[in-house]
Amino acid sequence: MTGNWEVALERSTANNVPGVWNVLEKYPYIENTRKSLRAAKMKVIENMEVYLKQAMESVSRSGGKPHFARDAGEALQIVDGIIGSSKHIIMGKSSVAFEIGLRRHLAEAGRDVCETDFGEFLLQISEEEPSHIITVALHMTREAFGRSIHDKLQKSINENSSAPEMAAVVRSFLADKYQKAEIGITGANAVAADTGSVALVENEGNIRMTTVKPPIHIVVTGVDKIVPTMQDAFNEIMVQSAYAGSYPPTYINFTTGPSSTGDIESEIVRPATGPKEVHVVFIDNGRMEAARDPVLRQSLLCVRCGRCYFACPVYGILGKDWGKPPYSGPTGVMWHSVVTGDSSFAHLCTHSGGCMEVCPMDIDIPGVMEYLKWKDIREKTK
Ligand code: SF4
Repeated sequence: MTGNWEVALERSTANNVPGVWNVLEKYPYIENTRKSLRAAKMKVIENMEVYLKQAMESVSRSGGKPHFARDAGEALQIVDGIIGSSKHIIMGKSSVAFEIGLRRHLAEAGRDVCETDFGEFLLQISEEEPSHIITVALHMTREAFGRSIHDKLQKSINENSSAPEMAAVVRSFLADKYQKAEIGITGANAVAADTGSVALVENEGNIRMTTVKPPIHIVVTGVDKIVPTMQDAFNEIMVQSAYAGSYPPTYINFTTGPSSTGDIESEIVRPATGPKEVHVVFIDNGRMEAARDPVLRQSLLCVRCGRCYFACPVYGILGKDWGKPPYSGPTGVMWHSVVTGDSSFAHLCTHSGGCMEVCPMDIDIPGVMEYLKWKDIREKTK
């Protein structure tokens, strides 16, 4: 790993843990919101085919183009078909994009592809893998960032530079990428089945730029991100950002089809100022099978707040090596099993239980780990 893992984790923990408690104390209504969201997400898990069909119809009704991919290979083919000969691509942070190997696939095809989230961008230039589900470069200290920027972008930056100095260099580099981009690719925090709206939460402004600036916006999302209504999608945004410790978030983005205007005699005309095409690629890749599993289905409730990582002693020692990026750490080990069928990383779980205590979705993570251990042994001994 780049930098010093213990130092990097200690600094992030010192910011995140009290930060989340402060948010929960200050905005007590989040407690009811998380309960309501859990119930809504469970409805989808129990009826995934029904909600997938409804979500795809809603995307289509709003002028967007829905797609369905059974696995990573199909998803890459669909994205290639949409992109055609376009060369300049910008990406918002997406663990699903990493799961299907999208950035590497596009770069190998000779396209100019650039991450726009600061953490993802710094991982990209440092040739590093994510170590946390949302704070993707958690393993990198400020000093490590400084060295990477010095080597790859700007000689005036070094390991003694401040975070604002580094952010200014990245901001200026990305400005040109936004300008040239023909395609913007993002994930989704939630997709509302009733409206086909894609909800995304962020603080940097990069996702807003990626969803609005290029003429074509592609959303790659797991089917687990479908929620029944737009209200549930908003609830997912609230819960995710609160339990990530960044509530209220700087930006909340909802995209419902391509840009449009009704200003000329109330006739709806597409496109207007923003994208002319919005594609939503719903990816299964093991999720629908997991939804049918009475124990593993709980993992699909995860809102990717990342809080369980800071409560886990095993992750504290092994970091991203506990699992396989992007799915490492407590929720990552469950998710690695969902998308690959490999449950072997669960054997390292010590069942300390802190993860379950802090999880806003009340996922019985130690219970799922116990089940995955049993599953792995059964498969290897039958
Ligand atoms: S398992 Fe729970 S605590 Fe961990 S990232 Fe998911 S929602 Fe957050």
